[in-house]
Amino acid sequence: MDNRDVLKYCPRCSGPAVLSDSRKIVCAGCGFQMYLNNAAAVAALLFDGEGRLMAVRRNEEPQTGLLDLPGGFVEFGETAEEALARELREELGITVCGIEYYRSIPNNYLYGGVLYHTLDIFLKCRLEDGADNKIRTNDEIKDVVYKFPKDITEEEIAFDSMKKLIKSLKIS
Ligand SMILES: [Zn+2]
Repeated sequence: MDNRDVLKYCPRCSGPAVLSDSRKIVCAGCGFQMYLNNAAAVAALLFDGEGRLMAVRRNEEPQTGLLDLPGGFVEFGETAEEALARELREELGITVCGIEYYRSIPNNYLYGGVLYHTLDIFLKCRLEDGADNKIRTNDEIKDVVYKFPKDITEEEIAFDSMKKLIKSLKIS
């Protein structure tokens, strides 16, 4: 699917508009054009001392009940590293350091009938020594689990980008 069914009108003049190449709203009436760009998202690769990966069980749509990595969307004006630190603080109440780029994988995210295209940026990090890192989850999360990547099955993972990531961790 694309967003052709939901983006049918011009945001400026309310006349009919078309979605061109899945990424550009074009209005022939007033000449308005608007691009739908990738949204940047970050996700944490946080391993415990035994090599188990921290994952969170989602408590909200989409994909409620399935496993995800802690993280979220990058806000305007934020670096990926800042976004990751903020999300982990908000979602889990933990402070991380040693944030390092690992890899990025594109993803699609259907929310409220709108298809969002994201670029998921996976960042390695670790819990900061000396910080109060007792996990306190917010409403977005059902629980936190630690699993070896080899023990995570594709069916229990919420999004394709994380499926690809876990697959690559199993090979390496
Ligand atoms: Zn228009």
